Amino acid sequence: MSTAPFKLDAQFASELPEMAAPWHGEDAPDPELVILNEDLAHLLGLDPGWLRSEDGIQFLLGLNPEPLTKSVAQAYSGHQFGQFVPSLGDGRALLLGEAHSTDGVLRDIHLKGAGRTQFSRGADGRATLGPILREYIISEAMHALGVPTTRSLAVLTTGRKIQRGTVVPGAILVRVATSHIRVGSFQYSNIAGGIELSTQLANYAITRHFPELAQSLENPTPELYVSFFRSVLKRQASTVAKWTRLGFVHGVLNTDNTLISGETIDYGPCAFMERFRKDAKFSSIDNHGRYKFENQPLILGWNMARLVETLLPLLGPTPDEAMTAAHEALGEFDDLCSAAIRQEFGQALGLDPDLEIIDDFQELLYRHNPDITTLLRSLTDNTAPPAGFESFAHTWKSLNPDTEAMSKVNPIFIPRNHLVEDALANAVDGDFEKFHELLAAVTDPFNPTAGSNELRLPSTEGFEEDYMTFCGT
Ligand code: AMP
Ligand code: MG
Repeated sequence: MSTAPFKLDAQFASELPEMAAPWHGEDAPDPELVILNEDLAHLLGLDPGWLRSEDGIQFLLGLNPEPLTKSVAQAYSGHQFGQFVPSLGDGRALLLGEAHSTDGVLRDIHLKGAGRTQFSRGADGRATLGPILREYIISEAMHALGVPTTRSLAVLTTGRKIQRGTVVPGAILVRVATSHIRVGSFQYSNIAGGIELSTQLANYAITRHFPELAQSLENPTPELYVSFFRSVLKRQASTVAKWTRLGFVHGVLNTDNTLISGETIDYGPCAFMERFRKDAKFSSIDNHGRYKFENQPLILGWNMARLVETLLPLLGPTPDEAMTAAHEALGEFDDLCSAAIRQEFGQALGLDPDLEIIDDFQELLYRHNPDITTLLRSLTDNTAPPAGFESFAHTWKSLNPDTEAMSKVNPIFIPRNHLVEDALANAVDGDFEKFHELLAAVTDPFNPTAGSNELRLPSTEGFEEDYMTFCGT
């Protein structure tokens, strides 16, 4: 093997060995690197030329971890649709290690679809091309829209044919995040190693995500861990506010799909709605609407309650004081979310978030169910607003909004469901043209010349009513 121009850290693997099973990827019969995100490779300090080489591809398959990486499958638990599952973990994923990015941030390089691990339970450990491309394009679009998210470095096809009802191509996503520490990671540390392991995990998460708190680790106090929890709450509120303003429905907000960093993770049954509705849900398995649009802040609050349960002994000198601190922090989450959502709508309208018109706007959205993307652009483009927003548009204009700032936060191009489905169907058949066209538009979402007019428009009448998304596992 040629010398790789880098080496990854194995911090998680060495600091939390109880939560990291050494593992490597599964051999692929005919691997091909079908997409490489060169900008992201540069940010990570990885040479795109080397990644494209034969050794680079072996590395991206998780096949030659030593001495480049000490790849591991991470252990975690999770509440799935409210049911606690103690032993989930990376059943088809691997953490290759952490890269020192050129911006100074340490980032995980992680594979999805890399084969069976000790956490696979009955499943095959594999992923298929359609869902992998879906995660690639939506995560990169979210990043371009300024939403905290995992990112996508590469897609490889394995050359393997996989049974998922029909026979489909096997694929691997190379995913990047500031860490893959989940609420479910704390649930696991709590049951597997008690408060001692949870403290180690909390300390590691603090170092990774909240450097402003890290110096207090030398002499940790209950206040430190309360601040840690409060910082996590703020991240969640900020992220869910951005989803709200964009009309994004995540679809499967289990505690194992909620990252401590606040980055959005696991783009399975997610969708951008084109008719703004409180009860929007698209996932084929979300029968009771647990994860519908309006529930997202509530559910994240529920997930945060599951997180704080695992930290209780750290939060105060006595159980009573710890409980009080946890309740106090958690009790503010609703207000944090509402304030963050106001802030987002304020920005979207180029106005002070405290103005009453911000409330009116939210009320109108739910009353008239518009496509929020075209609605917001109609305001700055001086085109006719959708039905029900005529008098709103008039009042809005009279308030002297900052339209220049608006055009930098309100996208023209988002990964609309019908466009994504069409692009993926073509790509799975071997034709990537539409996928690349859509990718170019949604990763440059504020630039009117980044895509064709067709890519701006909502789907035709009836599409969204029937639209259903699948986990794609
Ligand atoms: P997800 O729905 O992708 O968030 O995954 C939930 C859990 O199921 C995680 O523990 C995954 O590792 C596991 N899982 C999902 N698909 C597979 C698969 N094809 N093989 C093994 N484990 C899987
Ligand atoms: Mg998951």
